[in-house]
Amino acid sequence: MAELEKIETISKKPELSRDDILFLLSLDDPEDIRYLGGLAYAVKKKYVGNKAYLRGLIEFSNICLKDCLYCGIRRSNNSLERFLMSRQEIIDAAEFACKNRYGSVVLQSGERTDGTFTDFVCGIVKDIKSATDGKLGITLSCGEQSKETYRRFFEAGAHRYLLRIEASDRDLYYKLHPPDRHHDFDTRLSCLEWLKEIGFQVGTGVMVGLPFQTISNLANDLMFIKKIDADMIGLGPYIEHSQTPLYEFRQQLMPRQDRLFLTLKMIAVLRIMMKDINIASATALQAIDGFGRERALKFGANIIMPSLTPGKHRKDYLLYEDKPCIEENRDECKDCLEIRIKMAGDETGYEAWGDSLHFINRNHKNQTYV
Ligand code: SF4
Repeated sequence: MAELEKIETISKKPELSRDDILFLLSLDDPEDIRYLGGLAYAVKKKYVGNKAYLRGLIEFSNICLKDCLYCGIRRSNNSLERFLMSRQEIIDAAEFACKNRYGSVVLQSGERTDGTFTDFVCGIVKDIKSATDGKLGITLSCGEQSKETYRRFFEAGAHRYLLRIEASDRDLYYKLHPPDRHHDFDTRLSCLEWLKEIGFQVGTGVMVGLPFQTISNLANDLMFIKKIDADMIGLGPYIEHSQTPLYEFRQQLMPRQDRLFLTLKMIAVLRIMMKDINIASATALQAIDGFGRERALKFGANIIMPSLTPGKHRKDYLLYEDKPCIEENRDECKDCLEIRIKMAGDETGYEAWGDSLHFINRNHKNQTYV
């Protein structure tokens, strides 16, 4: 009982201290964790409502110039077929989203910085806008780019950008990335700044339960997210992939179920710390627990990303192994998610962009959106 009171007291503080965050992330009694989740859900309901907004996820290319040590589509993994969806395939996926009343799509790919790629992305953003009469919101997630490229993406019509820091601790970052010019921690920080300066709603996030990662790292991650004033967040459990160098350290990992609970606690604490941001319920949660994504909604997440990637490409876009839904088609994903959202007690936010209220509130301080 004493713990429940302490959890509630902390949740009502206007600012959480590092010790508060550490305390909440260290909870291990299931009743305490459930209680924390309930408080975070109440904050979500009060500040952003109980609608789960849809972002149709189009993983349009797995070609990547990087070699992140944890990622299944890293450059050095030769065991998969590389693909770039055609312009028409991407437009078809976006039209499916529009027809099925998804408010937004996310265009995600491996990282390329050549001019052909930049032109291609700008072209498809414009084409999607025109094919759907501007109805779809567009989030891009195409990695680190120059400021000029980000500006071109924005001018083409994308208005949200997701660039996960993955680990905000510099030392840990270099345990996850090779120390070369393609994987520079400071460049990543600069990219996040540029995106904000240009006017994007900026998303970031981290992996939870990595080898070498401590609770202290995770508390610092949450403080980092708060400090850079992110508008949207994707937090997912780390799931190992056998074709990556980090797999060698799998013996150090905590059990997957513990990674799931730690991720749920991270989501709940973040919701309490940043009440009006958007938080995605990561698909990776479902790789551990069939109801992982619903649980995330109950712990404060408010964004769901149904896959629109064509079935023939899904097996070649496995950032981690045991990724769920690789056999499903778009229609099955849609029906399944609607049921899942209802099960969590939320409504589906159809035909709405579901922009980050944090972004809106920051830019229009005189208006209230509660
Ligand atoms: S995490 Fe992103 S940038 Fe790194 S290898 Fe994977 S797709 Fe490429």
